[in-house]
Amino acid sequence: MYGWTGHILRINLTTKTFKNESFSEDFAHKWVGGRGFAVKILFDELKPGIDPLGPENKLIVALGPIAGIPAPNTGKAVVAAKSPLTGFYGDGNIGTRVAEHLRKAGYDALIVEGKAERPTLLYIEDDKVEFLPADEVWGQGTYVCNDWIYAKYGKGVGVLNIGQGGENMARYAVIRSLEGRAGGRPGMGAVMGSKLLKAIVVKGTKTIPQADPAAMKALGTGDLKKVGQIDKQTGWSIQSTTGVLPFCNEVAGLPVRNFRKTQHPLAWQVDGERCNDARVATYGCPTCTMRCGITILDKEGHESELDYENVALLGPNLEIFELAQVGSLNYLCDDYGLDTMSAGCTLSFYADAIDHGATDGDFRFGDAEQAKILLRWAAHREGKIGNLLADGSRRMARVFGHGSEDYAMQVKGLEVAAYNCKFIPGQALAFGVAAIGAHHREAWIITFEIKHTTRESYGPEKAAKVIELQRIRGGMFEVLVSCRFPWIENGWPLENYPKYFNLATGLNWTLDDMWKTADRIYSMIKLHFLREFPNATREDDYPPRVWFDPANADTEGPIAGKILDLEKYDTLLQHYYDQRGYDRRGIPTKATLQALGLDAEAASVSRVARLD
Ligand code: SF4
Repeated sequence: MYGWTGHILRINLTTKTFKNESFSEDFAHKWVGGRGFAVKILFDELKPGIDPLGPENKLIVALGPIAGIPAPNTGKAVVAAKSPLTGFYGDGNIGTRVAEHLRKAGYDALIVEGKAERPTLLYIEDDKVEFLPADEVWGQGTYVCNDWIYAKYGKGVGVLNIGQGGENMARYAVIRSLEGRAGGRPGMGAVMGSKLLKAIVVKGTKTIPQADPAAMKALGTGDLKKVGQIDKQTGWSIQSTTGVLPFCNEVAGLPVRNFRKTQHPLAWQVDGERCNDARVATYGCPTCTMRCGITILDKEGHESELDYENVALLGPNLEIFELAQVGSLNYLCDDYGLDTMSAGCTLSFYADAIDHGATDGDFRFGDAEQAKILLRWAAHREGKIGNLLADGSRRMARVFGHGSEDYAMQVKGLEVAAYNCKFIPGQALAFGVAAIGAHHREAWIITFEIKHTTRESYGPEKAAKVIELQRIRGGMFEVLVSCRFPWIENGWPLENYPKYFNLATGLNWTLDDMWKTADRIYSMIKLHFLREFPNATREDDYPPRVWFDPANADTEGPIAGKILDLEKYDTLLQHYYDQRGYDRRGIPTKATLQALGLDAEAASVSRVARLD
């Protein structure tokens, strides 16, 4: 077998043992890697109903068949587990040297089981695995932990680590790697913390098997350079993702005041131009020639790496417009190892709930200093409020009551990314049907929808676009585990990706083969969801209810008086189900599952097995 090492490393923290397991060519071809491997392994190995923060949960680190070989922007790994935030399959991708090192150590994936007796650092070097004490850095943030690791092993190793948020099992704790990179929004850091696993360090020195290494090297290194040259011409990484903020503000799609408002006159103070002006350094993932992390000095003088999502959700969404203060909130999230998006939405929900009388409290929109205290409480689960904040907006709303769940900005428990869909139906659908909860990674349709379609439309063309983007972004890029930005931002042709895949594996795949794999994975994640929530309905695919509330319509600006229409949204959702081959309840039909080769998996999900 070429392209894959053919091996998975299984580590048990309870017994301090490890096993090198091989997988078949069929498994590789059906699930490809990254998200595909993770979803299949977790489906097969986790019993439904297990506690995501218990030792039965498993943490997966999975790589793609082009990781570790020269090709554009492939320094990424998928981290996955049953999510403590949403209660079903959750994952994220993270820029990390682990991608290359784990492959060079001889593995395409890592499965971490059980629970350590004491804080542990897992050290993997080729065939060697060591379980080392990490008490020295337990209780420390990710920056101190990272430096401690670099001092021990040098800067070239691959590192995944957690901060206090993960240690204390905040449900949206992430895993961190390198200077500004984080991944695993639905609580993958909390899963590491529940296992007393502070860090994973990997060093690999072997050769990755490839079908045609010479051709791959020639094409991949050349393309890596070309992507960098295109980026210089377009200038995308001057502002990188922060450049989207003025667009969102202009078209009334910016989250302001817990998504109550869609625009703000002070938004320019935290836009891409201001971020670039304040830049003191640039960070990026390994093997990337369009490094997108803009680093500024925060209010306290720390280096803080910004992107659009964290600026918008920790800035305008909290009505904070001082860039250095936004940098401070972002730095704290990164150091504690909290997801910036869920943290921003949970804080804004708390302020909104106080505003609307659902709870008492002294946190107000615009109060950056209090927001810093609340982040510390959340990361340490300090006091009643810290515990509530650490559980995310949906759980918090269920405690507060008074209808506050309607304005907890989440879908399936995962907080929404920074696009205010009060009147953007296609993007609202993309959040509603995103595989793991309201993530923008899978179908970022907003610019297409506003620039190239009728905004008012709830037609089948929008459902089709969501599926097209899910196949590309949530499917192909997540199984190859490669960054999507060369394609999205700099027009790097999609057709290149099957070429890399084929040179690595010796296969002859086309984009259509990639789409079929993507559809299989979407249906598998749906099966996970249905197995955990047998009473789920199509309403679980609705976005936050406040987006349908006429009382929440803007009173001025381009969408004044307009708001999403629930009945029309439901029709749009049906277009999506019809095109995906799902029934009216959002369940893949037997014919769909058969066509995707998921008969065996479907048979184990009682609600699906009962379908005619
Ligand atoms: Fe990482 Fe940004 Fe480069 Fe993508 S463009 S690989 S996210 S640094």
